[in-house]
Amino acid sequence: TKDDVKNYLLRNAFVLFTIIAVIVGIILGFCLRPYKMSYREVKYFSFPGELLMRMLQMLVLPLIVSSLVTGTAALDNKASGKMGMRAIVYYMSTTIIAVMIGIIIVVIIHPGKGTKENMHREGKIMQVTAADAFLDLIRYDDYFTLFSLFFFSIFKFKTNYEKRLFRVETSPNETSIVASVINNVSEAMETLTRMKAEVIPVPGAVNGVNALGLVVFSISFGLMIGNMKEQGQPLRLFFDSLNEAIMRLVALIMWYAPLGILFLIAGKIVEMEDMGVIGGQLAMYTVTVIIGLLIHAIIVLPLLYFLIVRKNPWVFIGGLLQALITALGTSSSSATLPITFKCLEENNGVDKRVTRFVLPVGATINMDGTALYEALAAIFIAQVNNFELNFGQIITISITATAASIGAAGIPQAGLVTMVIVLTSVGLPTEDITLIIAVDWFLDRLRTTTNVLGDSIGAGIVEHLSRHELKNRDAEMGNSVIEE
Ligand code: ASP
Repeated sequence: TKDDVKNYLLRNAFVLFTIIAVIVGIILGFCLRPYKMSYREVKYFSFPGELLMRMLQMLVLPLIVSSLVTGTAALDNKASGKMGMRAIVYYMSTTIIAVMIGIIIVVIIHPGKGTKENMHREGKIMQVTAADAFLDLIRYDDYFTLFSLFFFSIFKFKTNYEKRLFRVETSPNETSIVASVINNVSEAMETLTRMKAEVIPVPGAVNGVNALGLVVFSISFGLMIGNMKEQGQPLRLFFDSLNEAIMRLVALIMWYAPLGILFLIAGKIVEMEDMGVIGGQLAMYTVTVIIGLLIHAIIVLPLLYFLIVRKNPWVFIGGLLQALITALGTSSSSATLPITFKCLEENNGVDKRVTRFVLPVGATINMDGTALYEALAAIFIAQVNNFELNFGQIITISITATAASIGAAGIPQAGLVTMVIVLTSVGLPTEDITLIIAVDWFLDRLRTTTNVLGDSIGAGIVEHLSRHELKNRDAEMGNSVIEE
């Protein structure tokens, strides 16, 4: 129909604009580099990009809540249980595959040559200890967040140790929205947000939304609404319409996204360090990471999709282009989430009950790229130190890398912070993270893109595996609340 044609053209125009934005951003960035802008000038220059980041982040919290609540409410307990299991199995297995790829690639290519002294170091930027990393894991960990949410709200327990230890920063979006819902929860959130203040001033890191506690709460809430049948209808309609309103905002932001991405990329290129200081080992390391991520993203994941869904994975990935480029531009899977939703639902026609249920969870715990990266980086650091790893230690690295990727938040360079866990688990020097920090901003973008791809392909696979439950539910509900 005419509308279809219009939508098709619009969609492709978006993708085209976004690709052009990336190219223009790169060119503009390199053209402006010779002018050696000051830190402040770079900040001003990248402002349109920062704006995109903020707009997306603003939507993440209501989006996660409304989509998870409606997603689970639209299913019965058994169906969501099954779907949840499938998603978890997918997340775990792809993460483990990613870790194995990382390990194999770094052992084969062996980028670290045991000459640490020759490597460029930026020691002053980051001093991370195992304690920092542990706190980071706790701050971003789901169950802990949930428990502390209740704990804080019941006892109104206030801590101020964070003030002593960390730089304190609050993210207004997060607190204000929750504040209007429930007062106690808002206090808890506020405390948590304050605790989430950046422990380490990782360059470029921004405050994301502490998603995991919300994920757990929204799933439980949605399940209850789902059980309530007739009685739950008002809430179902409420969250459904909230979700719809948010998605309309996303549609608006998508018009702005190419411009934002242009400036995000150009700004980063302007401010990045001279490539000259990146020595041979670091260059080799970068190439190794790229190869590992590529293997996972363009061989393993598409193959998995093909084997399970029996459809062309490239058509599916083609529909995701805009989300993937946004991930590349923002280096945050949380910030990309709104666009990922749009791409999966509108371009790929994935059932909303599936995307709403699995995407928010995936964006928070499923990070294939990060897992691959952490294992690979840890072994690289071992190589640089001439540290012989035995088999047991490699197993330890794979387990801790998996855990660290689950614990990492979907915000820029979170993976670098949780990497301390991997390093300390086998006794590698944590200060050697500084060896790889110079290229992390770049590798972060690539692993974030891989993370988003993993989540999206997961949604496609879970939808396929859950098709019977979805059909049964349709029959049961008659006219479903969430229309296809
Ligand atoms: N930036 C990544 C993400 O948002 C996390 C990481 O640092 O690996 O998915």
